[in-house]
Amino acid sequence: MNAKNVIENLKKRFPNEPEYLQAVEEVLESIEEVYNQHPEFEKANLIERLCIPDRIFTFRVSWVDDKGNVQVNMAYRVQHNMAIGPYKGGIRFHSSVNPSILKFLAFEQTFKNALTTLPMGGGKGGSDFHPRGKSSGEVMRFCQAYLLELHRHIGPHTDVPAGDIGVGGREVAYMFGMYKKLTHEFTGTFTGKGIEFGGSLIRPEATGYGNIYFLLNMLATRNIDIKGKKCLISGSGNVAQYTCEKLIELGAIPVTLSDSNGYIYDPEGITREKLEYVMDLKTVQRGRIKEYADKYNCKYVEGGRVWAEKGDIALPSATQNELNGDDAKTLMANGCIAVSEGANMPSTPEAIEIFLKNKILYGPGKAANAGGVATSGLEMSQNAIGLSWSREEVDARLKGIMNNIHENCVKYGTEKDGFVNYVKGANIAGFMKIAKAMMAQGIV
Ligand code: NDP
Repeated sequence: MNAKNVIENLKKRFPNEPEYLQAVEEVLESIEEVYNQHPEFEKANLIERLCIPDRIFTFRVSWVDDKGNVQVNMAYRVQHNMAIGPYKGGIRFHSSVNPSILKFLAFEQTFKNALTTLPMGGGKGGSDFHPRGKSSGEVMRFCQAYLLELHRHIGPHTDVPAGDIGVGGREVAYMFGMYKKLTHEFTGTFTGKGIEFGGSLIRPEATGYGNIYFLLNMLATRNIDIKGKKCLISGSGNVAQYTCEKLIELGAIPVTLSDSNGYIYDPEGITREKLEYVMDLKTVQRGRIKEYADKYNCKYVEGGRVWAEKGDIALPSATQNELNGDDAKTLMANGCIAVSEGANMPSTPEAIEIFLKNKILYGPGKAANAGGVATSGLEMSQNAIGLSWSREEVDARLKGIMNNIHENCVKYGTEKDGFVNYVKGANIAGFMKIAKAMMAQGIV
């Protein structure tokens, strides 16, 4: 396999899918050498079969808004790869959603899920429906209309969706309710469900907590203590909130949060009490992060990015390509020692190159944010056996999985000089597992 040729070919076939091509290119560059040590992979054209999704469903969703107007949105489900388990991956509701973004997310998800060691394939879905400003009734009607089509393609052994940007506990519950109504079955087809109807303890916290467990592992390789470290967090949704919570618990000092309008910088540090305010603001009031600055009298930068501030550790937790080469240079100039990604593909290729060149601790999302889907896997296990594990038990399993992912990254990503390239490590570890399963199952 020549990675450049494969990418050129994919560019010709999918010219309008930059995010998808970006995600594939990063993986192909890291696995090229290992892939070429296995001529049987090339003979089975494993690479194209791994890069191109099994199938994509595209459909129209019609629903009625509060004023009685009929609204129409586009919706999708990308079922990328099922070699090691049922398709598994979240649903995103955001105006920017398109096939390229969902294909990149489903591709990344396939590798991430393999890393967790749990039996889950990769998928992703969503719609260009934008929940901001919509009433709860409108969100419910949209979720129900989306499920009218989606329910045909999912199931506990087929495809198990969960949340992502714009889809939290409220939306998962509405979708689960409609799925149940349409199929007349109570199954573990969605994860991220409410605790009263089959959800797992720690699932809401899992992506943020897992990212910090991964970060602790990275810091330990250089004997660095997290206590007292200033942390820059972007976003203020699910992942950002629980990243912040774990940092506070460990004695680190989170100083920023953001949303798509701007960011706040609180030099005193975001405390437990202030975080509770953010959680209420974002999940109950559905307000803007600017209100934090008004309430606590700190700096707010409209349209800015948190990477402009000085911090020891950066935790991107909003969206793809939110940290570019210039941001990376600023972080380096300000003495940043670690970047651990809660979001999916938040750093551009230029930013990643700078992190690797500077040999900082850099945990790519595929590894660092895998705690979310891993805990979804634990929710599936609990549903399958009809049991509910305690908080402590799920948290201990989450920690164990993140330690294991870190260990695998070190195993496959350590370079000659001892530097751990976590990008390479995560890509190779995930790839080898899927490749072996695909080879064993023949050309399908
Ligand atoms: P939420 O919807 O809860 O929060 C998203 C946050 O990011 C909000 O603050 C939002 O601001 C901001 N944001 C979203 N899009 C943009 C944009 N285009 N520009 C600037 N800010 C933006 O989502 P999550 O916290 O669940 O997801 C955050 C990231 O983590 C995503 O990349 C997701 O794929 C990834 N992830 C999530 C997992 C999970 O378990 N939830 C698991 C693994 C990864 P605003 O309110 O203004 O839109």
